[in-house]
Amino acid sequence: MNSLASHWLNYIDGEWCDSDRHLTVNNPGNGEPLATIAEAGIADTERALVAARRCVDSRALSKVRPAQRVSWLLAIADEVRSVAEEGAWVLCQENGKSLSDARDEFIEAARYFEYYAGMADKIEGASIPLGDDYMDFTVYDPMGVSVQIVPWNFPVSICARSLAPALAAGNAVIVKSPELSPLGICMLIEAINRVGLPRGAVSLLCGRGREIGAHLVSHPSVDQIVFTGSVPTGQSILRAAAERAIPSVMELGGKSAALVFADADLAQLLSSVKSGIFFNAGQVCSAMSRLLVQRDIYEEVIESVVQLAEGLKVGLGQDDSELTPVISAGQLDSIQTLCQRAVAEGAVVATGGEAFNDRAGHFMRPTVFRDVSPDMCIAQEEVFGPVLAIIPFDTEEQAIEIANGTEFGLVAGVFTQDLSRAMRCARRLKSGQVFINEWYAGGIETPFGGVGLSGFGREKGQEALYSYVRTKNVAIRVAQE
Ligand code: NAD
Repeated sequence: MNSLASHWLNYIDGEWCDSDRHLTVNNPGNGEPLATIAEAGIADTERALVAARRCVDSRALSKVRPAQRVSWLLAIADEVRSVAEEGAWVLCQENGKSLSDARDEFIEAARYFEYYAGMADKIEGASIPLGDDYMDFTVYDPMGVSVQIVPWNFPVSICARSLAPALAAGNAVIVKSPELSPLGICMLIEAINRVGLPRGAVSLLCGRGREIGAHLVSHPSVDQIVFTGSVPTGQSILRAAAERAIPSVMELGGKSAALVFADADLAQLLSSVKSGIFFNAGQVCSAMSRLLVQRDIYEEVIESVVQLAEGLKVGLGQDDSELTPVISAGQLDSIQTLCQRAVAEGAVVATGGEAFNDRAGHFMRPTVFRDVSPDMCIAQEEVFGPVLAIIPFDTEEQAIEIANGTEFGLVAGVFTQDLSRAMRCARRLKSGQVFINEWYAGGIETPFGGVGLSGFGREKGQEALYSYVRTKNVAIRVAQE
């Protein structure tokens, strides 16, 4: 299991292809080079686009009986499961995440294919009554060529999250993998292509975002853009999409708040804080990056959270540590810079606040800020690291106002024993998903996506499938009197 190829390829038009340029993938656990991967350029991108267009125009994915797509997707789920162990090792090495979390990513990826296999033969339109002289019905056509741009934090599961519903609906897909963590996706695509999909149905390009990513999103052959990543990149992609009015799904960043009322179950809360902000070293779009705590229990919560943070097992992903390295030196720098700005603005470091300088890899100390006010940068900007800002509040009204007081709106949480209060808050919180008494409750079955700068469109759940189709209405005049 513990081996890893030294050089990796792109998958274009049914073949694994090298390139004369290579990107180096580093191991975040020690900062050392791990492997190289062929760097796709514009010519490679053009070939992938031609293959995808040919696949769409031939209707090889869309003209078959839907049961055929069900079979393909179920077979893919099996193939992905069969590489989960080997894939987890690769993903853990290139990404820094724990081995068990990396394994979970592959299992979750398999689940996406299984889940959308269950829908691939149920994409049913409606029959619309227009009186006896007409017959009217709707059908759902695939979008066509779907370009899917993937970030580095959960590369394998996010890739599957968009790819599975896109294939279920009969689209051809070009995946643009993230430069920092592209290897696990190669294993995913290799597993997918073992089931004998039509040529051009899925291609994989690893290359620079500003070069091939920008080329893809402004290309006339592209019918849909699915982007998961940062707000500035999403905005630049939307500008390109606007030129051709291309439908897009935007899964962007977050600054999500948990509201903790005085009657909350603290054990339940602490387990949610642990996964909410320290899982994947806090590099999670839906991380619990703000903890809003009712003043009566403010000191007690801070003390318990600090104890939790200081007790985390810090180390390499392969040792199944609880706090693993962040992805790169650049990411570590940007996390520390934001922490320094927070201190300059008056936030108080309750623990952490800087990197571990005695470790070889990119390790950030688990960090808790207290006495944070809602207007500080640490309460407004996405950190994308293991950094929690704790903010006090007095009333429910005030908590909602603080929670809704950023430009983001991805997820939110409420911790209370009072169901009426939980429901009142859930209705008023400006976010795509609300967790009550457990951060990350929900699953691949529950729709996920943002409001505001967190983006638009939904992934996961039955609803996501409809991001990958267009509605067409057919209206027939059947009688001539
Ligand atoms: P990023 O925006 O830097 O990169 C994401 C992808 O976009 C990469 O594949 C990159 O190569 C590509 N890209 C970069 N510039 C491009 C351009 N001009 N045109 C086209 N593609 C381009 O984001 P990141 O640092 O990889 O990921 C972290 C961000 O992603 C965070 O903000 C996080 O919140 C967000 N995220 C959101 C979700 C979600 O589901 N909402 C999930 C994971 C991550």
